[in-house]
Amino acid sequence: MATWNIGSISITRVGELLGFSSLPPEKYFPGFEREVLERHLDWLVPNHYSREHDWLITSVHSWLIRTERHTILLDCCAGNHKSRPGFARFNQLNTPYLERLREAGAAPEEIDIVLCTHLHSDHVGWNTILRDGRWVPTFPNAKYLFSRTENEWGDPRQNPEADCDLQRSNAYRDSVLPVIEAGQAELVDGTHAIGDAMLIEPAPGHTRGHIMLKLDERGEKAVFCGDAIHHPLQVYAAHWNSAFCELPKEARATRRRMLEHCAEHRALLFPIHFGAPHVAAIAKVGDSFSLRFVDGRDV
Ligand SMILES: [Zn+2]
Repeated sequence: MATWNIGSISITRVGELLGFSSLPPEKYFPGFEREVLERHLDWLVPNHYSREHDWLITSVHSWLIRTERHTILLDCCAGNHKSRPGFARFNQLNTPYLERLREAGAAPEEIDIVLCTHLHSDHVGWNTILRDGRWVPTFPNAKYLFSRTENEWGDPRQNPEADCDLQRSNAYRDSVLPVIEAGQAELVDGTHAIGDAMLIEPAPGHTRGHIMLKLDERGEKAVFCGDAIHHPLQVYAAHWNSAFCELPKEARATRRRMLEHCAEHRALLFPIHFGAPHVAAIAKVGDSFSLRFVDGRDV
């Protein structure tokens, strides 16, 4: 399993899906410019784009972050046995995700913090599992951190629009509410520290309450950016929003700010949907950015 180290903190990818994105390029990115794709074909094929199918390749994974004090799972993929009408890629999955988590070295009981960057269905799925016909928290000893804004917007009892949103659909009821009812949720506002090395910050745009996690350990840095960016081509076209970004102007501004931060502070970027090798270093080139993939160690 691919693992990276930031100072003494280890970060392992726990994969759920790797393959075709849910929509063709022009629909996935409504502002798609084919010439940008063509300029970068040499490194996009085969891990990030299938020339044969003219389709982008994306991953769905979690990051397992282990510090001396904490075992953190960042974002929880789509989950098993969840009904996601209109979303074939995430509907009624049955993947060995929990076995992969164990292979990465963590049993569900050992996770003490779950952090969801936002409450779309492909980031909250493994929050819960089906037991005796009921959705219950998968991680019995974890505190689950959700953004308060995201929770207010995503709760169909507070916002009837949430039910009409395909990206959220049933996810709040089967993957968020059971955690809140079990008393395991903590809603965070603004910035929020986890130990000395990690800071949650608001990163609105993809969703209203989207958050990201910045890590700084002995001067080595990383950013866990959730869906502030979806595909490595957006490093070169930071103005492209995905079809799933709720607030287009804010999404562009947050993406740019996040890339600026990575370039300026040499912070490694850990997105949720980049294909292999999944992690990138960012550099500023004039007014735009470039990327260099960084391989993990196989452990
Ligand atoms: Zn996503």
